[in-house]
Amino acid sequence: MLTPKRLWPKFWKIKARLHAGAIMTPFEVLAHCQNGNFAPVSNHILLESGPNRMTLTIVDHPLVQHKLSLMRDKTTPTNQFRQLLREISHLIAYEVTRDLPLELCDIETPLRSMQAPVLAGKKLALVSILRAGNGLLDGVLELIPSARVGFVGLYRDEETLQPVQYYFKVPDDLQNRVVIAVDPMLATGNSSVAAIDLLKQAGARNVKFLCLLAAPEGIARMQEAHPDVDITTAAVDECLSDIGYILPGLGDAGDRMFGTK
Ligand code: URA
Repeated sequence: MLTPKRLWPKFWKIKARLHAGAIMTPFEVLAHCQNGNFAPVSNHILLESGPNRMTLTIVDHPLVQHKLSLMRDKTTPTNQFRQLLREISHLIAYEVTRDLPLELCDIETPLRSMQAPVLAGKKLALVSILRAGNGLLDGVLELIPSARVGFVGLYRDEETLQPVQYYFKVPDDLQNRVVIAVDPMLATGNSSVAAIDLLKQAGARNVKFLCLLAAPEGIARMQEAHPDVDITTAAVDECLSDIGYILPGLGDAGDRMFGTK
């Protein structure tokens, strides 16, 4: 099992390798400024080889990092938070869809015919993990307007602390679609793992997970339960608080995007 304690040394090893090259991204400079409080940045991190292979992609583009910092700031008001989330979700969605398969199709330009690349296969399915997933979903849909959309609603049972399903509606034919599950915060990972369990029970075979912020604990939990599901995020933060919030994080994503607190 990849526990957070085992995960972090891997990150630091990667960081050491990156620094050997001596070119640092703005985010790494920031990590330095914060005495290494932040996870190092790399576009693609392969977390394990063999059957537990999972790729963690941290979108280290300066625009993403800048927008994320504005979102973290507690003085950022709801309307601006929502707008930033929309903008940042375009940029992360761009990365999560990078390896979608293409096929050639015959078209006529105004000048001649050609074989042009278009997305292959059935339309993507985007699945929002309610309720905060809806904020990310809106932006991703602007980039992929023909995607089919599903919703998974889970609440936490106060006694067992386990996620319980209260809503599940997904497109048909999940087994033939690339499914992108979206939830801004990968914290303990419990609800993400439960949502992906349900998607797989409904037939999904090719699932990707898109979030804004991830905690090492959530990444480890996902890797243990769903090593076949690659994760794309804007940042990996330090740890979870004792009540399961990501630190330093951005607070409660749902409350901040819907203005419920
Ligand atoms: N969900 C949130 O909205 N924020 C966190 O920090 C963790 C889970």
